[in-house]
Amino acid sequence: YDLTHQDTRRVLYDVVTLLEAQAALHNTQISVDAGVEPLWIFGVENQIKQVFINILKNAIEAMIDGGTISVVCKREEDMVLIRIADEGPGISQEQLSKMGQPFYTTKDKGTGLGLMVTYKIIDNHQGTVQAHSEVGEGAVFTISLPYAAPPA
Ligand code: ADP
Ligand code: MG
Repeated sequence: YDLTHQDTRRVLYDVVTLLEAQAALHNTQISVDAGVEPLWIFGVENQIKQVFINILKNAIEAMIDGGTISVVCKREEDMVLIRIADEGPGISQEQLSKMGQPFYTTKDKGTGLGLMVTYKIIDNHQGTVQAHSEVGEGAVFTISLPYAAPPA
């Protein structure tokens, strides 16, 4: 695998650009607040991209009535945090406990593999993913990855 310096903001903007048309089909816009400084991590670019795609696609698919997906990307001490909040129906406690298990899906054409892959990739990058939700209040996914010293 090709481990290199990545500016999390740039990877995020690439993915958001990629998914904007799909979001629009769900009457959804994606707002990104990522500051102006590069947020360096050390990782495999395509894997980090895949993580953002998986979580953002789930968020878009959850936005039955449209609205805004809010993405915040920032540094907090020695971590880079990426917080993705949707305005969908949210996730029950029971669903939360099953999410990420292989083939767990509530969708007609779901695979139930997106979050499993996501958790695995983030774990391989020494990071964490937290899912938070109250039913009716949308879902919030927070990814945390070790901040890397800027490339020389
Ligand atoms: P899939 O998208 O193929 O169903 P995932 O692993 O990506 O598989 O997600 C598993 C399940 O977790 C989804 O089917 C859905 O029930 C739940 N889920 C994930 N993200 C969200 C979200 N943002 N809002 C509501 N439910 C979600
Ligand atoms: Mg999915």
